[in-house]
Parts: sequence; C-alpha cells; structure tokens
Amino acid sequence: MIGLKVGEKSLMRGYSLASAHYEDRLEFCSIEVPDGLLTSRLQHLTEGDEIIISSKATGTLVIDNLEDGRNLYLIGTGAGLAPFLSVIKDPETYLRFKNIVLLHGCRRVAELAFGEMITEKLTRDELLGDFVRYPLIYHPTVTRDQFRNRGRITDLIASGKLFSDVELLELDPQHDRLMICGSSELVRDTRELLVGKGFVEGNHGEPAQFVIEKAFAERLALDCARSSEAPDYRSHLERQ
Ligand SMILES: Cc1cc2nc3c(=O)[nH]c(=O)nc-3n(C[C@H](O)[C@H](O)[C@H](O)COP(=O)(O)OP(=O)(O)OC[C@H]3O[C@@H](n4cnc5c(N)ncnc54)[C@H](O)[C@@H]3O)c2cc1C
Repeated sequence: MIGLKVGEKSLMRGYSLASAHYEDRLEFCSIEVPDGLLTSRLQHLTEGDEIIISSKATGTLVIDNLEDGRNLYLIGTGAGLAPFLSVIKDPETYLRFKNIVLLHGCRRVAELAFGEMITEKLTRDELLGDFVRYPLIYHPTVTRDQFRNRGRITDLIASGKLFSDVELLELDPQHDRLMICGSSELVRDTRELLVGKGFVEGNHGEPAQFVIEKAFAERLALDCARSSEAPDYRSHLERQ
C-alpha cells in the first residue's frame, strides 16, 4: 500500500512493486485517474515530497508460487503490467524458465509506452542484458488502434494466434506457467481457459501452474460497478 497524508487522514491504495528486490530504491508504475482520489494528487508530487509506504508487502504474483516449467507467461492488462516489471528484472526468473513471454494488453498504443521502454532498457542493461536478450519475448497488443499486434489477450490465446506469433507451442500444463494481473474480465476469462486445459491455480505455500492477483481485479470490478464512466488511463512512473 502507498499513499499520502490528506488532512489528518492517510489516503492509501494497493500498488505493485515494479522494482526488483535487489534495487536500492522502490519503483511504482501508476495510472492517472483524472479525478482519482490518490492519483490526482500523486501526479503532482515533486522531488522531496513525502509519500507513505506500508512496511508489509503481500501478493500472489511471485515466482515461488509456481512450479518449475519451461515457459513463463506474464499476462497483464493496463496497470496490471506493474508487478511483472520486478519479475523480469530478477535473474532467478531466467534461471528457472527457458522462455519468458511478457504479454501486455491495452486499448491504445500510447498506453504501451512504458512496457516498450522497460524491455528496451533491460536488454541494454550491463548486468541483466545477457540474461534477458534471448529468453524475454515482449508481446504488446491493443484493441482500439492500428498496431502490429491486435486483439484481446484471451482471444489470441484461444485462437492459437499468440503461439504462432511468439513461435512457441500451444499451452500445456506440463511445460507452461502463467501469472495474470489486470481487469476482472481478463482474470475470469484466462482462469476459465486455463482450468479448461487442465491447469491448476497456485497460492502461497502451494505452488502450481498459474497464479492470479485477485485483490487487483476485485478492487477494479468494485470500482467500475460504482462509476458509470471508465477512467482515462495514462501510465506514468512514480519514483520514491
Ligand atoms: C493489489 C493491488 C495492486 C495494485 N497495483 C497497482 C499498480 O501497480 N499500479 C496502478 O496504477 N494501480 C494499481 N492498483 C490500483 C490502485 O490501488 C488504485 O486503484 C489506483 O491508484 C487509483 O487510485 P485513486 O485513488 O486515484 O482512484 P479512486 O478514486 O480510488 O478510483 C477512481 C476510479 O478509477 C478506476 N481505477 C482505479 N484504479 C485503476 C486501475 N489500476 N486501472 C484502471 N482503472 C482504475 C476505478 O474505476 C475507479 O472507479 C492496485 C490495486 C490493488 C488492490
């Protein structure tokens, strides 16, 4: 949870850590909801301003919750990309899996900018570059603009188009492991699809073949049910 002091109260929201465990600063990737209670304030922070960070971190999206496998698929929509930024910076990920496919689905091309930047930067990184260059396959896709990859992630998986694009075999519980973070539709549809193929969901202390960040999707579903209009998402980086 991160947040700000507003009057006497602390205004806190759940956030994924985008920085790796070995980095000496914490990094978060945030959408800007124009009239969002926290992000409308967060986006105006300047150097030296204080933010609150709770000391306890929780969440299911860590590779320890997955069994060993050949391919790791990281599937995120919108700000659901954030937790995978720390996963792709962790050398352990590359030691445990042969191929890592980072799938990012957004409505517009402009919303993909952060993913493009991070993967480009990573492959040039002095320490991680050699680890990352070959196994990491970044596959962004959009639903509303013209782009090299188009369509919803679940449709691309169901039709098999994704696998011909990334040049890997179709999903198989014996070899593939997946992490999913994003809208409640993405979580629901992907879970259904995977269970139908015989995949088992993992949890803390019970590693299996796929894991889902439930709190993120539940919070979004709740918020979207309350608000009649979808927010305008613009990804940007908040540093502390
Ligand atoms: C476990 C967990 C991890 C999260 N990780 C991140 C993260 O890494 N980056 C991030 O940007 N957000 C993340 N969120 C969402 C985040 O907690 C806030 O919802 C977001 O910062 C907006 O807060 P706000 O106070 O500005 O908006 P609010 O005033 O609380 O909400 C305004 C409206 O914005 C919409 N909204 C809120 N968050 C999102 C979102 N992420 N995507 C699309 N629509 C949204 C809702 O429809 C809501 O009605 C996470 C949430 C959880 C529960």
